[in-house]
Amino acid sequence: MTRVVRPIVRSFHARFDKECVAWVRKGGHAVYWESSTRARLVIPTPAKGDIGDLGYWSVLDLGKNTYETHVTGRFRGLSSLRVPRSCNDIVRRRATRDSVHPGPHRTVNFDCLECGSCCKDNEVILEPTDFARFEEGGRPELGKAPLARKRGTQTVLTLLRSKDCRHLGHDLKCGIYTLRPNACREFPVASECCLFARQDGLGVVDGALD
Ligand code: SF4
Ligand code: SF4
Repeated sequence: MTRVVRPIVRSFHARFDKECVAWVRKGGHAVYWESSTRARLVIPTPAKGDIGDLGYWSVLDLGKNTYETHVTGRFRGLSSLRVPRSCNDIVRRRATRDSVHPGPHRTVNFDCLECGSCCKDNEVILEPTDFARFEEGGRPELGKAPLARKRGTQTVLTLLRSKDCRHLGHDLKCGIYTLRPNACREFPVASECCLFARQDGLGVVDGALD
């Protein structure tokens, strides 16, 4: 069981910019509506080099990997990115999901061993260190067909017809846990991607089993 403090997402109309900033300074995430169709995701500035930062993953979940860090202006000290219009519904859903929670963050228990949702219908891209780990672990076949396939210049793990990862056991444990790829090691529990996977796979809203 992992206990995680996760940010709560709140929606703010442009005229409530001070409230928006205060919310994020206390650790929440904000969807700041500059107009009815133009939104900005505002997050505490991610710690440099922290690949598990939940703010950074809330950006990745919108299909982006960069954000702006504000040194002046109303969001000074915070980070933000313009939400792609195609993602407006995604950020609206985040705010609706979290509207029942009063504060800017919330402590939730996650049990990956009873979940496995992020090991389904996913795309695990293999990195050079993954191939090296497979070799050293005596399992070089993990990086080759049929267990992996080329996708352009990249190699990804293949999925079963059910869309489950081939290495996910019936007990929801990873069959190659000690050799699992970097992408699996780095995937942060309580990230927006985790919450989405759990909602999609288990119907669990908010990430809480209890
Ligand atoms: S979706 Fe989240 S809780 Fe479920 S196994 Fe993945 S990281 Fe763990
Ligand atoms: S390799 Fe293991 S941890 Fe990674 S997606 Fe497959 S089952 Fe999940």
